[in-house]
Amino acid sequence: MIGACRHGRMSPGKAPMSTQNIFLQAPAIAPANRALRRHQRPCVLWFTGLSGSGKTTIAGLVERRLAELGLHTYLLDGDNVRHGLCRDLGFSDADRVENIRRVGEVAHLMADAGLIVLSAFISPFRSDRRLVRQLMEPGEFVEIFIDTPLGECERRDPKGLYKKARAGQIGNFTGLDSPYERPEQPELRLATLEETAEQCAQRVLDYLAARQLLAPPAA
Ligand code: ADP
Repeated sequence: MIGACRHGRMSPGKAPMSTQNIFLQAPAIAPANRALRRHQRPCVLWFTGLSGSGKTTIAGLVERRLAELGLHTYLLDGDNVRHGLCRDLGFSDADRVENIRRVGEVAHLMADAGLIVLSAFISPFRSDRRLVRQLMEPGEFVEIFIDTPLGECERRDPKGLYKKARAGQIGNFTGLDSPYERPEQPELRLATLEETAEQCAQRVLDYLAARQLLAPPAA
């Protein structure tokens, strides 16, 4: 068996040798009870898009609004995770896959703890995003595509990374020499050329409210 999952759900894939003698323990407190005690419904808000598209900015605004509503959240940010949990990983395709696999497992555990998790990762590959979705209960994974054209991301270049990539100082840069696979059916698509960051954040809040994800769970 692989990886403990909420409601008995397993991480998809074949069990590696290292987990063959590992036995899942039934949780002493059911995840639904943890969420109940927090008076909220857990979910994962998965922001995906090119570097500089606005993931961190919009996720930060959403998290602040959720906190104002008294909800318990955690924002997983690509840069921060790469300084710790994933500091051994680079930007090859294989390392990007492993990066998202780890983040997906962490997001899943945090949702198990009853939190509303916001994750801001480029997460360029559809198959990786699908794997994280499969860890979650239906309706609990909200894929939010920050749809900003490459040219605009490059114009904003908030961290100066496009400039460095164009100068040949960074390789495997998403959108330039590494692919980004657009979500085909995201729960939300936010076009940052058409709406301000505040308006985009409000659209996320509206989506959550419409699906009762801001309301306390039924006891
Ligand atoms: P990412 O996390 O996707 O790499 P960041 O949030 O760090 O992107 O940077 C996005 C930049 O774009 C910020 O400087 C932000 O102020 C700017 N920006 C301009 N318009 C918008 C918008 N409508 N939504 C989000 N960010 C925007």
